[in-house]
Amino acid sequence: MPKTGHDLSKYLRQEMMPNVWCPGCGHGNITRGLMTSLDRLQIPLNEVVVIGGIGCSGRTPFYVNTNAMHTTHGRALAFATGTKLANPDLTVITTMGDGDTAAIGGNHFIHACRRNIDITALVFNNSIYGMTGGQAAPTTPTGEKSTTTMYGNIDQSFDVVNLALAAGATFVARTTTFDFQDIPDMITRAIQHPGFSVVEILGQCPTYYGRINKLGDASQMLDYEKDLTIPQGYVSREEMVGKKPIGIFREETRPEYTQQYQNVRQKAGVKYDS
Ligand code: SF4
Repeated sequence: MPKTGHDLSKYLRQEMMPNVWCPGCGHGNITRGLMTSLDRLQIPLNEVVVIGGIGCSGRTPFYVNTNAMHTTHGRALAFATGTKLANPDLTVITTMGDGDTAAIGGNHFIHACRRNIDITALVFNNSIYGMTGGQAAPTTPTGEKSTTTMYGNIDQSFDVVNLALAAGATFVARTTTFDFQDIPDMITRAIQHPGFSVVEILGQCPTYYGRINKLGDASQMLDYEKDLTIPQGYVSREEMVGKKPIGIFREETRPEYTQQYQNVRQKAGVKYDS
């Protein structure tokens, strides 16, 4: 971890080191951002649950020194929903990759958005399936290469932010690992938001996406992210062409699901016993 004057070692599960991620992988940047947020919020670590799916992003709960679950592919939000309903006092955070969010886990994602359950969903978007060998993901841009689209991807890619907005998430944001100082800011606001929060973080997979698409090493991929994105709201429509906007796209209040569920239980005469 880079030295920032802040000791985050208590948030790192030291016994799990070294981690499985490749040198230069963006998942390390995102995990550091998550740990910085936990440090800012000072939530007792035994009141936090980090839940991962499958793939490189799914390893994150191994390394964050909170309660943790490593679940099945695309089902992180299903486990998170059950966890939050069972104990609404917990801070529940999911770490999901492309498939967890928008392929096999797509249905869980859209329904979590519409329910507005108080979970923070971190989407590690590196535009490819990393752990399984560099196959095309639902977020692989059209025309780009993967090990299953060596002549260029002919599918339209999902825009995770637009998907979350359309499905009804009440906090939706996007940043990149280039904008590493924004990561803890956005995660902190997402955790504080009383509803379903989505933070998409565009990050580098130098081993597959970068190599296959000749984007260079990890630091060159950070420059690629910088060129690909633009802060929303500060530029004209013309300047947005070919760029991905970053920033906070929605932050609004709507009745939260576990609260509504508790109301139903009270109406039905059931005592809440978390
Ligand atoms: Fe990171 Fe890609 Fe390596 Fe997975 S395969 S650890 S996403 S660099």
